[in-house]
Amino acid sequence: MTAFSTILNIPKALLGTLETLGFSTMTEIQQQSIGPILEGKDILAQSKTGSGKTLAFGIPAAIRTNVETNKPQTIVITPTRELAEQVAMELRKIAAYKANLKILTLYGGVPLRAQAGSLAKGAHILIGTPGRIQDHLAKGTLTLESIKTLVLDEADRMLDMGFYDEIVKIGSNMPKNRQTLLFSATFPPKIEALAKALLKNPLTIKVDTVQ
Ligand code: ADP
Ligand code: MG
Repeated sequence: MTAFSTILNIPKALLGTLETLGFSTMTEIQQQSIGPILEGKDILAQSKTGSGKTLAFGIPAAIRTNVETNKPQTIVITPTRELAEQVAMELRKIAAYKANLKILTLYGGVPLRAQAGSLAKGAHILIGTPGRIQDHLAKGTLTLESIKTLVLDEADRMLDMGFYDEIVKIGSNMPKNRQTLLFSATFPPKIEALAKALLKNPLTIKVDTVQ
């Protein structure tokens, strides 16, 4: 069990927030991935449900967000609106340490126009489903030129739901030199194909424990 405080350059204010939330030590996936993510590496990570993947990508995303601009810098793609909401809730808890860090969810069942209004006001971390992200791209209410990190959360589930082409297409709308992080509970062959299409020289991490 390694303390969050061992991460190089982790802001004191974030350590305080993590402590308040009752998170003192990192889970295994967090321990193996947060450092390389902060260094800018692409990551292909497999670890079980409940192992703390959200903060594994969420902590680096919050640390690296530049709040001097209101452009989106991280986009997290999740299979369902429920998961998008869950990820947003978890990230909002830790993002509290950084003033003005804005997190916005993009999923169906909410009027496009209301989301477009929120996008126009600016947000740093976007969390959404493939279909709704595509809708905004098609309508021109979202551009991804400022994205530094693309996160694919629950990638195996997204492929089960038939989102392969959508995900690759969304990826083609952002800078080639972005960082890409793929998180999955399982590694079927289709995941390897998706990784080949989107990741550059990734560090592969496989963890069997949830703690
Ligand atoms: P996964 O995405 O791998 O299924 P989650 O990110 O949803 O897992 O995390 C599962 C639970 O573990 C959440 O309730 C989360 O708040 C909690 N958690 C995450 N990181 C830690 C930590 N370092 N210490 C204690 N609990 C944690
Ligand atoms: Mg998760």
